[in-house]
Amino acid sequence: MNFIPYGRQDITQKDIDTVVETLTSDFITQGPMIKKFEDKIAEYTGVKHVSALNSATSALHVACLALGVEKGDYVWTTPVTFVASSNAALYCGATIDFVDIDSKTFNMSVELLEKKLKMAKKDNKLPKVIIPVHLTGQSCEMDKIHKLSIEYGFKIIEDASHAIGGKYKGEPIGNCKYSDITVFSFHPVKIVTTAEGGTCSTNSDELNEKINLLRTHGITRDEHIMVNESHGPWYYEQVGLGFNYRMTDIQAALGYSQLDRLDTYISKRHEISNLYRKLLSSLDVKLPHQLNECYNSYHLFVVQVQEEKRKEIFDKMREAGIGVNVHYLPVHLHPYYKSLGFKSGDFPVSESYYSQAISIPMFPTITDEEIQYVCERLKEYLG
Ligand SMILES: *Cc1c(COP(=O)(O)O)cnc(C)c1O
Repeated sequence: MNFIPYGRQDITQKDIDTVVETLTSDFITQGPMIKKFEDKIAEYTGVKHVSALNSATSALHVACLALGVEKGDYVWTTPVTFVASSNAALYCGATIDFVDIDSKTFNMSVELLEKKLKMAKKDNKLPKVIIPVHLTGQSCEMDKIHKLSIEYGFKIIEDASHAIGGKYKGEPIGNCKYSDITVFSFHPVKIVTTAEGGTCSTNSDELNEKINLLRTHGITRDEHIMVNESHGPWYYEQVGLGFNYRMTDIQAALGYSQLDRLDTYISKRHEISNLYRKLLSSLDVKLPHQLNECYNSYHLFVVQVQEEKRKEIFDKMREAGIGVNVHYLPVHLHPYYKSLGFKSGDFPVSESYYSQAISIPMFPTITDEEIQYVCERLKEYLG
């Protein structure tokens, strides 16, 4: 049996042809493929605007800036996420804090969020933005978080890096029905890839305009946005401070081609989940909890084993050629975050989740034999 990674991209001949076509065309960046890629996501999710960037990290950064996050503001997210979700707030000079997770779904707990909001209101420290993360591709309880946002006056950025192709209450994640901005990632381990890449989705014309300025130096060629009268067709103006966070057309071409297989990928991931659930049902592992109102995109398949056995099982799985992984060390436990004042014990549910979690292989091209092999090894090592 060859080494089985925990996640793997799928590149077809059609992807290669689409990329090569762009590579040999007139534009390899800032050309027509960007808009085609953006429009395809907008159409798929039913959102008004999509803006492509060079990573989801950049997308989270400009999303925070577009919502006015700055020094003196508070931003809250979940500890169980990739560090980019909270780093984005720090880039803007804001103060980051976390809301512990729900012990079943491992997403941000709405109950704890409400408690924390009540206390923050008393202390006059309410967050400007909250970043819920749809862990593994299962949506957070967005209707409840949205209700709280109206009551407490915060904005919402959905970090849907895991979740393209997933649904919440029957509608596509990324339609921004319950949020101001949604971010997708197109890193190769995610559901569809552009090698590196991310997007911001929004239904707001104003936010979209800000995001588009921020991704390209704060420069505009749009006469409606210019401060001065245009000097002629060559003229552009910098009207704010932005970055070079652009995606290339080569990357967009890859994503554009990949998106045709998004639904197939998600159904395949569901088949894999069903097989895992069947083969692991009688073992001493906790399987992912599935909410009825969510259609998971299954970026990851995280099982939970006894804390005392986790390291040994993990090591043995790796020795058996299975690329298990752990998602994630809670953000507040990283040395950098500890240097900001966070400490062990701050978010006990997240810490307990972490100590038991193992991500087992999940990607559309995994074979049934490979799945069986993973399950047999896991059974053996569980003892
Ligand atoms: C992958 C990931 C990111 C960052 O995505 P990049 O495209 O690599 O910048 C952000 N948040 C979460 C939850 C992720 O999994």
